[in-house]
Amino acid sequence: LKSPYHGGHLEVIVGPMFSGKSEELIRRVTRAVIARQRVAVFKPAIDDRYHAAHVASHAGRTIEAVAVRDAAVIRAHLAGEGPLLSSPEVELPEVVGIDEAQFFGPDLGPLVLDLAEAGVRVILAGLDLDFRAEPFGCIPDLLARAESVEKLTAICTVCGAPATRSQRLIGGQPARFDDPVVLVGAQEAYEARCRVHHEVRR
Ligand code: ADP
Repeated sequence: LKSPYHGGHLEVIVGPMFSGKSEELIRRVTRAVIARQRVAVFKPAIDDRYHAAHVASHAGRTIEAVAVRDAAVIRAHLAGEGPLLSSPEVELPEVVGIDEAQFFGPDLGPLVLDLAEAGVRVILAGLDLDFRAEPFGCIPDLLARAESVEKLTAICTVCGAPATRSQRLIGGQPARFDDPVVLVGAQEAYEARCRVHHEVRR
């Protein structure tokens, strides 16, 4: 039985933090596993190590994943060059899932388009907007190129409306527009917010 997506398919799941992107990725990947398709799931590694990991939703569900430093490592892994593979399997998986896709650099786009061209069903989950509510990295381009797009909302922590944005708080205060998009080691927190309650200090 061939996957219904055997012609290649790019699906993108976006929304702010807490909108259920990881949950939705886990749901789709779990269904592919039930359908006995070969699946590989990747996420960005926080450090430089390439290691076995999990994609976890805020509600606690997990699936196995491989944490990688960049898109080139995903390419190498799928080409059977991954150190985690005991017997290199050069055949591509039918489904490739990638979580936190916004943290991969500009190499992610060409990789996922190559995979889709090669007949793989690619499922990406990631933030469409950064903490300033600006389009995030390579995601806008992939939203345009995808066969299917799902834009999820969270719940605004201030008013309970559907939230489309991720509020970054540093020491309890809204972050500034020119703070770096990726902050390492700061006292920071994120909350889901609607357009009205999302704040960026200028
Ligand atoms: P994402 O990957 O988009 O960050 P997750 O799939 O990890 O989202 O988590 C979604 C879950 O987070 C929800 O099902 C809910 O249990 C929980 N959650 C916590 N805070 C919120 C919020 N403000 N709005 C919606 N869900 C929330």
